[in-house]
Amino acid sequence: MKRSFEDARKVILENVSTVGVERVSLLESLGRVVAQDVIAPWEAPRYDNSAMDGFAVRVADSAGGQALPIVGYLPAGAAGGQTLEASTAIRIMTGAPVPVTCDAVLPFEDAEEADGKVRATKPVKSGQHIRRAGEDVKCGDVIAPSGTVVRPAEISMFAAFNQDAVMVYRKPRVAILSTGDELVEVGQPLAPGKIANSNGAALAAAVLDAGGVPVMLGIAADTVESHREKLTEGLSADALITSAGVSVGDRDFVRLVLAELGVESVFAGVDVRPGSPTAFGKKDDKPVFSLPGNPVAALMMFETFVRPALLRMSGRERVLKRQLTAVLQEDAHKKPGKTRLLRVRVIADCGRLVASSAGDQSTGMLNTLTKADAIAVLASVRGSYKAGDEVDVLPISETLDLMEDER
Ligand code: AMP
Ligand code: MG
Repeated sequence: MKRSFEDARKVILENVSTVGVERVSLLESLGRVVAQDVIAPWEAPRYDNSAMDGFAVRVADSAGGQALPIVGYLPAGAAGGQTLEASTAIRIMTGAPVPVTCDAVLPFEDAEEADGKVRATKPVKSGQHIRRAGEDVKCGDVIAPSGTVVRPAEISMFAAFNQDAVMVYRKPRVAILSTGDELVEVGQPLAPGKIANSNGAALAAAVLDAGGVPVMLGIAADTVESHREKLTEGLSADALITSAGVSVGDRDFVRLVLAELGVESVFAGVDVRPGSPTAFGKKDDKPVFSLPGNPVAALMMFETFVRPALLRMSGRERVLKRQLTAVLQEDAHKKPGKTRLLRVRVIADCGRLVASSAGDQSTGMLNTLTKADAIAVLASVRGSYKAGDEVDVLPISETLDLMEDER
């Protein structure tokens, strides 16, 4: 049954889930999703400490601006627990524990030092420049709830609590199979009629980029036996992506053999161009994505269907890129009932986004994909678009995040 583009995206996400958890080292947790609430084992800061380089004092002693003898020195790393005697000061550095009887830190900039004594040149307020124990985080606070995507800020927090490992969702292992007798592995001699298996490399890169681990199955020849062997191997991964052999040609064995291996078809075919032969199935909880062989269609279908699924499998709650609205620069023809995806370039122009075709939109033009930084999604319900119409665009390049207004 052919699906609408929107429906296909939705049904894929309804059919994927996380693939387990693992404990990883602090740095390995970057970009991963926390799988278990991380709880503060103690309060932070752990002890009252100085926020400035200066002098630990008592407010009552400093009020009249009298000179206080400097009786000690507390560098960062000092053990703490000292008592500040009345009418004295202790030199203290940022981060050092303040003496128990001190209620203010007089920063160097507000102090006048002479003959081993110090005097405040400004009124001293109670508690000034003291970071109180627990003012940042209370013991038992959730410092990163399950579902948090780990950034350097989270790593800073985990490290501050002396945690050197974090429980995160596992990266999905994604098997990648290319099919077709015309294919040879990249770098091998290209006999007449042969082409390099560029989809294998492209899809592996896309899997890595989406936070998965590619498992390369290589190439299946256009025979049922070869498909059976490779697809069986692929079904031992967390997810399987195939390219080519999914249409209705007399050598398109992917769907036939997947069915034989017990993969239940969720849909076969999507009302989208490019990418209409795309199929999706499941064996138990394992998703199987059958992408078209055409390299442009394979990558565009990965971007719109597979990437969100892999992100969801990695534990991410939000998996769909924010669609931007842009103004189309030129007319785009289409028929109602089918979604059309255009490879476009987007620029910011006086505060609005403008999308223009990245080149020839024939599916065979890979060059146009390399020039594009977004996919314009021409809605299925609509007929042709006119220049000046608004269109949804899906960024496929970081240039869109880093974009500056052209004027
Ligand atoms: P198919 O889906 O088998 O009809 O293939 C569609 C087109 O994609 C054909 O021109 C194939 O040669 C090409 N193609 C299939 N697989 C790959 C691949 N792994 N790398 C590059 N091109 C491919
Ligand atoms: Mg083929």
